[in-house]
Amino acid sequence: MTYSARPTWVDIDLSALQHNLQQALNLCSSNQRVLAVVKADAYGHGAVQVTRALQRFGVRDFAVATLEEALELRQAGIGDNLLILGGCFPGQEAVFLEFNLMPILMDTATAARLNAEALRRKRQIKVHLKVDSGMGRVGFLPAQLQEFLPQLRQLDGLIIEGFMSHLACADELDSVVTHTQQDQFLMMLQMVRDAGLQPREVHLNNSAGLSAWGCPDCTLSRPGIILYGGLPSPAFSTRLDLQPVMHLRSCIAQLRSLPAGSGISYGHSYHAHDNMLIAVLPIGYADGYNRLFSNRGQGILRGQKVPVVGKVCMDWIMLDVSYVTGVEIGDCVTLLGSMDDISITGDGWAEQLNTIPYEVFCRIGNRIPRRYQ
Ligand code: PLP
Repeated sequence: MTYSARPTWVDIDLSALQHNLQQALNLCSSNQRVLAVVKADAYGHGAVQVTRALQRFGVRDFAVATLEEALELRQAGIGDNLLILGGCFPGQEAVFLEFNLMPILMDTATAARLNAEALRRKRQIKVHLKVDSGMGRVGFLPAQLQEFLPQLRQLDGLIIEGFMSHLACADELDSVVTHTQQDQFLMMLQMVRDAGLQPREVHLNNSAGLSAWGCPDCTLSRPGIILYGGLPSPAFSTRLDLQPVMHLRSCIAQLRSLPAGSGISYGHSYHAHDNMLIAVLPIGYADGYNRLFSNRGQGILRGQKVPVVGKVCMDWIMLDVSYVTGVEIGDCVTLLGSMDDISITGDGWAEQLNTIPYEVFCRIGNRIPRRYQ
């Protein structure tokens, strides 16, 4: 049965994605490729469609967080290099080999399990050795690496395809931590090379690292957020020329003329200060339109910004459209992204919500269909 969907959707602008990719490529040195981070459903933009688009734009290396995310891409016919940043959990080894997936390697027990499974199949599996250069999260610390390297050389089922680490503070432009991490990274890379291993790929930089910190020894950079048009932090606003990829839109379901004094939405946190025209949109916090936007959010309608009034509900929001001429039921409002040369950015949302644009994009719910153009 075919029917019309609720008029709430996300437009994904693939030409903006291409523009942002080009910005990332411009930042890479001549020996570097982009390994595009498409985890968390490509930061909410739709992993399969985004990955396919990036393939068309020439990207051949991708990273996701989980095995399930990798399988979604494989099942969509994406056969390129896929790095799984969350590693390989016990019981997943056979699937990694079956689908030719590369885990990061961050502990000795996983190395033993992957090696055993690979040898059992008379095969080898490529892994990227992950070191902790100061992130304080996952990976081998220098002393652990030193101890592990002789063992690692004996594991014939493993190919140490990559050597990598992750930056903790690259979004701060004058971070001492990043300098220390860079030194640690190079020191551990040398340990690996001295042990006779020659990883083909070396990578350290996320978007912030790529934008502000070099890595001459690296063959790959791992940008995520800048591909989607978000800033690693506000400090990067003058450094990067990015375009928003995600545009969240919803169309007016009801228009209501309310007399002065009317309470609007749960708790009557807003009262009409005059006779007002209120537009009701079919979107709410269940869709990722944050409840903190109650009496604070904005939409773009007919070339102007209009405020959210009253509490954001699970499935509805209300906007004051009293000053918009010609407004009609069915008019579409842009809540995130741009319309008529006016923008409401993910970075702006992040500032209002006291978070980062990463979370803004990831939180746009999968109840909302994505349209690609
Ligand atoms: N590399 C790793 C290991 C990550 O966890 C992430 C994201 O969190 C990235 C790269 C991409 O980071 P960004 O989106 O800041 O470019």
